[in-house]
Amino acid sequence: MLKAFGERPVPGVRLTLVTRDVRTPYSGMLPGFVAGLYAYDELLIDAAGLARYAGAALVRGEAIGLDPVARTLAIRDQGTIGYDILSIDIGSVPNRAPAAAGLAVKPIADFAARLDRILAAARTGKGRFTMAIVGTGPAGVELAFALHRRLEGSGQRPDATVLLVGRDPEILAERSPRTRRRLTASLARRGIRLETLFDVTGFEEGELRAADGRRIPVDTVLWATESAAAPWLRNSGLALDAGGFIAVDATLRSLSHPAVFAAGDIAALPDPRPKAGVFAVRQGPVLAGNIRHALEGAPLEPYRPQRHWLTLLSTADERAVADKWGFSAEGRWVWRWKDWNDRRFVDGYNAVARQPPR
Ligand SMILES: Cc1cc2nc3c(=O)[nH]c(=O)nc-3n(C[C@H](O)[C@H](O)[C@H](O)COP(=O)(O)OP(=O)(O)OC[C@H]3O[C@@H](n4cnc5c(N)ncnc54)[C@H](O)[C@@H]3O)c2cc1C
Repeated sequence: MLKAFGERPVPGVRLTLVTRDVRTPYSGMLPGFVAGLYAYDELLIDAAGLARYAGAALVRGEAIGLDPVARTLAIRDQGTIGYDILSIDIGSVPNRAPAAAGLAVKPIADFAARLDRILAAARTGKGRFTMAIVGTGPAGVELAFALHRRLEGSGQRPDATVLLVGRDPEILAERSPRTRRRLTASLARRGIRLETLFDVTGFEEGELRAADGRRIPVDTVLWATESAAAPWLRNSGLALDAGGFIAVDATLRSLSHPAVFAAGDIAALPDPRPKAGVFAVRQGPVLAGNIRHALEGAPLEPYRPQRHWLTLLSTADERAVADKWGFSAEGRWVWRWKDWNDRRFVDGYNAVARQPPR
């Protein structure tokens, strides 16, 4: 949105960006950072620079409440700000991550800071060290390979065990059987332990506990489970779906409050798709276009989610697996493709962020 409004501003419209992260980490490169293939700086999109380019005011803070009737947004420790049109694009967090036990993969900035402490504790600890990753979707699988490389491959902790745990019968429920087989075999070859049909209820007293009573002793847990919505939306009066995500129509406009739009993970679409960046990114131009239309009193256009989408999964050994249309391919070239794509994505926005405001 910032890029689009920077390229073609709407006269008389004042933009404000509210964000916790003025430099926003890109999740697609997070497993590469965990594996030690990228420095943290390489993941960051300069949101403050994009705001500057768009001529937007920047509020660095966390939205914690919304009154869609008074049209105000509450920011932690900073009072409220008013709006005529609000776009809520706050993403999601893992649904099973109890704040005190273990480490949630999102918010990414918190995760990156805390991961270093956990790895340092792992290095200095005595005896065997087991790190569990809960969630066998794309993020959990990539992070298992990444942590394995960081802990064992680097020689930092050769006796460490990486354990990938999920409640489904297999990893990557939404991907092709061929991709599932390839990656299950890669996990086994690397010595990454896989526990399926393990419905985790909690991490207590050094044990990962399942609904059926099974227990596995582990030292620490990384939560990469399904997406959950921010709890503060529940009191907002906005129409939400059963999971607490903002119910929008095909134009990304709130079903209950026409002045509110939502896109990305936090939006519950009429034609739902998995919570993945490939959809969030494609919604961006539609969101920007529709907010422009709403301001100009023009009809809004629908977002049509793609039926097939590409997933590129890194195995943290300079190889990756590609999956689309039920096909699967693997190799060094897939990693080079993913790396090129990801860097181009981040660098593209950062190049815009360096441009002077129009
Ligand atoms: C490890 C990992 C790897 C992934 N890899 C891929 C991949 O390769 N391909 C893919 O398609 N998807 C991937 N995903 C999923 C992807 O991260 C999300 O679908 C995508 O980021 C959603 O984009 P978004 O803009 O909705 O939210 P986000 O990217 O989460 O951005 C939301 C932003 O809002 C900020 N924010 C949140 N709450 C507040 C608040 N209350 N106040 C102010 N600011 C706030 C956050 O700090 C963040 O900057 C991955 C996820 C993980 C965890």
